[in-house]
Amino acid sequence: MKKIIIAIDGFSSCGKSTMAKDLAREIGYIYVDSGAMYRAVTLYALRAGYIKDGQIDEAALQAAMPGIRISFRPDPQTGRTLTCLNGEEVEQDIRSMQVAAHVSPIAALPFVREALVRQQQDMGRQKGIVMDGRDIGTTVFPQAELKVFVTASPDVRARRRYDELLAKGQPADYDEILANVQERDRIDRTRAVSPLRQADDALVLDNSHMTIAQQKEWLLEQYRRVAWQQ
Ligand code: C5P
Repeated sequence: MKKIIIAIDGFSSCGKSTMAKDLAREIGYIYVDSGAMYRAVTLYALRAGYIKDGQIDEAALQAAMPGIRISFRPDPQTGRTLTCLNGEEVEQDIRSMQVAAHVSPIAALPFVREALVRQQQDMGRQKGIVMDGRDIGTTVFPQAELKVFVTASPDVRARRRYDELLAKGQPADYDEILANVQERDRIDRTRAVSPLRQADDALVLDNSHMTIAQQKEWLLEQYRRVAWQQ
């Protein structure tokens, strides 16, 4: 069976990463969380003081871009993928509410997208990859053999994110999370470069009322169906 590219796009906090990660592990593919890359650039910008009162110093960030290296490595204990920023593991830091609050405007900057899309395309050269994000099936890999567009209602997504933060022992405010989910949807859908939209040939999955196990099974079925045709 030939290796393929699997693109999983959709709204924030709709469980894309969990599905994508599970599938990659099951079929022995590489998993790439493209959102983590936009989050890492955001963390860099926050730490460098390039975001003040919601204003981004675009010139400073653009000048810094060539020096921002994002990589992934497996956690030796859990096997989970950890995101690294210039060699420093930042997995926990990029999941904070502060990063979530600033990531969509950063991800709307054309020079940020250009740099990260290029890196993402390089990662897919050998195929055998599952990548999740917002523009994977439309911009990064328009030729992907399997494209899935995942959606769920905003309140279901906010509730999942809230439960996730509580489970990690992090502070969580449901209303703040819901507002963040809705605001990120708005920015992601309306930005000029690579807005979040369903690719014409994507399969749509509304998982509002599905369990993780059901989603996993559904995705595996789609993979088998497409991979056998190659
Ligand atoms: O997937 P996650 O919610 O971690 O992504 C964080 C943010 O990064 C999204 O809200 C979106 O603004 C941006 N993003 C993007 N394109 C991608 C992946 C993420 O614009 N391919």
